Formats: sequence, C-alpha cells, structure tokens
Amino acid sequence: MAQTQIQAAREGTVTDAMKRVAERENREPEFVREQVAEGQAVIPANVNHDALDPMIIGREFATKVNANIGNSETTSDLEEELRKLHTAVHYGADTVMDLGTGSDLDEIRETHVDHSPVPIGTVPLYEAVKRAGGPEELTTELLLEVIEKQAEQGVDYMTIHAGILAEHLSLTDGRKTGIVSRGGSIMASWMVSHGEQNPLFQVYDEICEIFAEHDVTFSLGDSLRPGSLADACDEAQYAELDTLGELTRRAWKYNVQVMVEGPGHVPMHKVAENVERQQEVCDGAPFYVLGPLVTDIAPGYDHITSAIGAAMAAEAGAAMLCYVTPKEHLGLPDEEDVRDGLAAYRIAAHSGDVANERPGARDWDDALSEARYNFEWREQFGLALDPDRARDYHDQTLPEDNYKEARFCSMCGVEFCSMRIDRDARESRRGSRSGQSPEGSDQPREGGEMNRLESTTDLEASPAAEVNRPPVGTHDSDALSAVGDDSQSVEQAGDD
Ligand code: SF4
Repeated sequence: MAQTQIQAAREGTVTDAMKRVAERENREPEFVREQVAEGQAVIPANVNHDALDPMIIGREFATKVNANIGNSETTSDLEEELRKLHTAVHYGADTVMDLGTGSDLDEIRETHVDHSPVPIGTVPLYEAVKRAGGPEELTTELLLEVIEKQAEQGVDYMTIHAGILAEHLSLTDGRKTGIVSRGGSIMASWMVSHGEQNPLFQVYDEICEIFAEHDVTFSLGDSLRPGSLADACDEAQYAELDTLGELTRRAWKYNVQVMVEGPGHVPMHKVAENVERQQEVCDGAPFYVLGPLVTDIAPGYDHITSAIGAAMAAEAGAAMLCYVTPKEHLGLPDEEDVRDGLAAYRIAAHSGDVANERPGARDWDDALSEARYNFEWREQFGLALDPDRARDYHDQTLPEDNYKEARFCSMCGVEFCSMRIDRDARESRRGSRSGQSPEGSDQPREGGEMNRLESTTDLEASPAAEVNRPPVGTHDSDALSAVGDDSQSVEQAGDD
C-alpha cells in the first residue's frame, strides 16, 4: 500500500510533494510537514495522478479557489469538457471538481486526470446514481465499486455525503428551502425509501481503506447546508457538522487526509461564526466553503453575493473557496461565466490573504498601485488579475498605442486626472525645494493639456518587475501550458 501524505508527515518524512508545496507557498518544508501531520492542511495528490503539480489547502497557506465543471444530461462532449478544464486552469482555479452527470463519464474523468496539473475532485455518488438508474436503486456495493474505480483513475479528492444521518431528516421539516445539496437530497431520499441509515455512513471504514490505498483526500460533504438565509445556522446544519467532526477523526485514524465542506447561504454577521464552529468541531481540518451567499435576492449576480461571503470566510480562516458563477440557480455556466466566477473568487481569496497578512500577498497590490500611480499602463495590465479584461476596458475608449504612455485615462479625462494633478504638484514641490522646475525642466508647466501624452517619469523605481504574479499559491506557467499543449484540438475549437 502506498504511503499517504499524512502518514509520511506523521512519520517525520518530508515528501517531494511537501517540498514542492513549500516552494510554491514560500514556506519551510518542515512547516508544511507539521501542518499535514496535524491534519491542519491537506495535499490532495492521488498516487495515480501523474500530471499533478502538488498544492496545499490549509488555513495557514494562501486561500485556494475551486472551479466546478462537468457535463449534464443535455450537454456531453469530451472536447468541450477539456476546454472547460483549460479555461478553469487558465483563469486561476487551484483545483477543479468534475461534477459531470451526462454520458462518457469515465472517459472524461480519465482525460481530466491525464491533463490536469491541478487536483481533480469528484462526487462519486452522482455516477453511482446514474449507474443504478435512480437514487432508490443505490446499493453499498455499487457505491464502493464506483469510489474504488475513481480512486484508481487518479481522482485526488472526493465529496462523500456520509454526514447526513436518518435522525437528522426531521430537523429539516421547518426549513424554507429544505435540503438543497444534490448529494444530500439523494441520500435523504434513499434513507426514507429504505428505512435505513445512510449507506455512505455505514461503509465509511471501507471508504477510508480505499482512500488510504490511493491517497485520496476526503471532502466531507455538507448535505444539510442552508439553501437560504432563513435556514442558516439551524439545528440540522449544526447536527450534521457534529457528525462531520466525528468522521474527520475516524479518517485520520486511517491516515487519510480530510477537508470539510461548508455552506451555502449565510448572512454576513454569521459567516465568521460558521468558520469558527467548523474549526472547533473538526479539530482544525481545512474548511472548504461554497460561497457563502450573503443574500438571496440577486439571481444572475450570485458570483458577487457569494464572493462577499467567501472573502469574509477567507479572512475568518476558510482554506478553500468553491466558486459560484453568475448562472448559479439559473443554468449550466458557459466559459464566460467560469471566467467571471473565478475572477470574483480569486479576488475574495486574495482579499482574505491580504487581511491575514499571508507572506507576499500584499506585494501584488503594492506593485499594481505603483504601476498605476506611475501611469505604466502596460505594467498595470500585466499585473491585473485578469490582464485581458483590464486592457480591453482601457482600449474601448483609448485604443491607440500612444495612450499607453498617457498621464490620464478616459475615466476622469486629462483635466481632472487626480493622479496627474497630484504628481505634478509633488514634482513642483520637489522642484521648488531643489530650485528646479517640475521634472528638471527650466520651463514652468502650462496647464493640463501639456501632460496629454507625455512619457511617464517614475517618482520611484517600480517594484513591479520583482513581483512574481500571482505572488503565492497559484499555478506556474509550465503547469498552465501543460493543459494548453495537450488540448490543442480544444484550442483549435475556439479557446483563447
Ligand atoms: S483619469 Fe482618473 S481614473 Fe484615469 S488614471 Fe487619472 S485619476 Fe485614474
């Protein structure tokens, strides 16, 4: 049996994956080992996932972002699914969950694992239901068979809905939106129709043995997460959380890594409470949250309603954020939705890292601010979270190349560009102190127009060139090109 990351860490071994993670996070390998050994962080790295560039998920490290992809019964195409993987990695997903429920699931999953430099997560229950022909037909044998097969295929982490128990179901009776987790509703339906306990709970020890053999990480599903603000932090949610705490400790006994999934829909004033409670109940196992959405009123904008909650959760200690796209509650996201969702969530994750003073996080902000104040437009675009969008928006009104040297943009215009006015005033103050006119000229300045297309003069040397963007925690360019190179047919089909 292969050694899992947590087993190696507990025995004092710093694995190659831990060394790579330490390099990416700018931390000491020994610190990484300690965090993994104590279950405070996970390195989802199935021993069969050869293309993986190892990463770490834990509250002491850069906050990570997951993107969900996958086909549905109405859309199923291998090239389309590879293109979605490429898009997700290109826009900065740290992990990708394949939630496919359509056809060719095996082929698509194997292709994802073969091509992906980031960990791949799945919900094996979906495939089991599809193969069984419906939730009521599920058997424990089939569940274990699907889980084992996906582990052999190289899936790095799996959502297992083992925490919802028969005794929890009545606690949802008074809810406004019932059970909104797909896996949770399937398990509840099975328990009601069979009059038995959750089968995933019943075979949990066998699942642990499979996970230990392939080093698959648990992502313990929150089947009873609230689907509306009205249901947030209710008895059902917290009863399941208590079970997830017990399951965390049981998995650790098998030397299996664990992270725990969280809500959902939570008002702002209760976001931190959710994170703190999970950390306490689950002994610090990494918290992987979906949003949470902080209001229910904005279908079409739920990447924003949820990114607000995600940023707060990141500050409070959530380790990974599952993105939400503008199509949430409305339909299957397309590539533009994936881009918008990932941008929103990388902002949330980075904001949390800045608030928590993660090593190197603020350097990125400072470099961009320097470039902005120095009117280094190309540098500013290059440093932007989404460089293509920043450049496109600028060029919509000032497309000509010479405007990349301008000391203003179309937002305020040349006369009212506050940064240009302030820079001029600063330079004047410096000039008067040294007996020189601004920027060393012997001639006085003649008003706003004179600055229209001047080259910029740095007040101080920009640190931008020294910033390795993104500063911590995301993929390197080699990893990105691994997806691009291997999916040429996808790119020819229209990807960027
Ligand atoms: S014009 Fe306004 S928005 Fe544009 S660079 Fe100047 S201060 Fe910034």
